[in-house]
Amino acid sequence: MKKKIIVTGGCGYIGSHTAIELIGHNYDVVVVDDLSNSSQDTIDRIEAITGVRPTFEQVDLKDAVQTESLFSAHKDAAAVIHFAALKAVGESVQKPLDYYQNNLYSLLNTLKFQHQVGIESFIFSSSATVYGIPKALPILETHKAQRPSSPYGNTKKIAEEILEDFTKVTPNFSAISLRYFNPIGAHESGEIGELPNGIPNNLMPYITQTAAGIRDQLMVFGDDYPTKDGTPVRDYIHVVDLAKAHVQAVQRLIKQEQEQSFEIYNLGTGNGFSVLDVIKAFERVSGQKLNYQIVDRREGDVTELYASTDLAFQKLGWKAELGLDEMIESAWRWEQKYRGKEN
Ligand code: NAD
Ligand code: UDP
Repeated sequence: MKKKIIVTGGCGYIGSHTAIELIGHNYDVVVVDDLSNSSQDTIDRIEAITGVRPTFEQVDLKDAVQTESLFSAHKDAAAVIHFAALKAVGESVQKPLDYYQNNLYSLLNTLKFQHQVGIESFIFSSSATVYGIPKALPILETHKAQRPSSPYGNTKKIAEEILEDFTKVTPNFSAISLRYFNPIGAHESGEIGELPNGIPNNLMPYITQTAAGIRDQLMVFGDDYPTKDGTPVRDYIHVVDLAKAHVQAVQRLIKQEQEQSFEIYNLGTGNGFSVLDVIKAFERVSGQKLNYQIVDRREGDVTELYASTDLAFQKLGWKAELGLDEMIESAWRWEQKYRGKEN
C-alpha cells in the first residue's frame, strides 16, 4: 500500500516541488496549506505535471482546533514534512509577533497533534541563516548556530531547539531538520516556480522579474566585500534537487535508519557563486542584458556562505546534481511562462 505523507505548506514554492517528487516515488500526498502565501491552483498544476491529484486540506496550522482535526482525519500518515511558515525576512523585522506566532504555533500544533495520533516522523524546513557569520567554510552542520539577525531566522533556530528538546523525551519520535542554502530554479515544465508576494527580497526572482520588465533595475547590494569580485558568495541550489533530498529524508525516517532521534543536514551544492557570477550566468543563459546597478550593502548580509555537503551524502545518499545554468534556465522559463499566462 502507498504510504501517506503530509506536506504542510505544500502549495508553496518548495513544498509543491517536493509533492511532485513524492508522487513520483509513489507516495500518497496530502497537501496542507492555509493559502496565506500561495494559491490552490498549485494543486491543479501538480496534477497536470504528475497525473495524480494530491489531497488538499485548507488548514491554518496555527489554529489548534483545525490542526487536531486534520491529524485525526489522517492518522494513517507515515510522516510529516513541515514547510508551512512565513518567510519574508524584512517583513519579520517589522512584524515579529506575526512571525513568532505563525511559525512557532504551527510547529507546536503540528508536533503535538501528529504525535497524539501516532505519526512519529517529522521533517523540518530550516535555513542556513542559523549559522550567522561562518567561522570556517565550507560550513559544517556542527558549526554552532547563532542568533539570526531577523525574527524570521530566529524562528528557525528556536524551532530546531524545540525539536531537540521534544525528540529527547519522546521515544519513537524522530525528526530531521534540513538547512537549506539558497533555493532557486523551478520545475522543468515551467508550470510551478517561485512566486514572491510583492517586491522580491531574493536575488533570483529579482533578476527574472527585472528581465521580464516587471522591475526597472536590479540593485546589487555592495561590491566591496572581500571576495573575488567584491560581491557576496552564496550556495545556490536547484529547488528540484532540494525536493529530492526530502524524499531521501522521508525514506530514512520510514525505514528507521536514523542514528539519532534528531538529525540535521545541510542542503546545498557545496559551490559558492557571487552575485556577479549569477548575473553573468543569467545574461549568458537567457541571451538578455540585465539592467543592474551597484548600490550600498544590505544590512545583515554575510560575505560568503556555502555548505559542506558530505553529511547529506553519507547519511541521506543525496547530493545536488543540477548546476547553476539549469537553475537559471528553469527560473527564467517559469517567469516567462507565468507572465505569458498572466497577460
Ligand atoms: P512559501 O511561502 O512559498 O511556502 C510556504 C507555504 O506555507 C505557503 O503556501 C503558505 O501559504 C503556507 N503557510 C504559511 N503559514 C501557514 C499556516 N499557518 N498554516 C498553513 N499553511 C501556512 O515558502 P517556500 O519558499 O516554499 O518555503 C518553504 C519553507 O522553507 C519555509 O518554512 C521557509 O521558511 C523555508 N525556507 C525557504 C527558503 C527559501 O529561500 N525559499 C530558504 C530557507 C528555508
Ligand atoms: N542581492 C542583491 N540584490 C537583490 C537581492 C539580493 O544584490 O535585490 C544579493 C544579496 O546581497 C546576497 C545575494 O544576493 O548577497 C543573495 O541574496 P538573497 O536575498 O537571495 O539570499 P540570502 O543569502 O540573503 O538569504
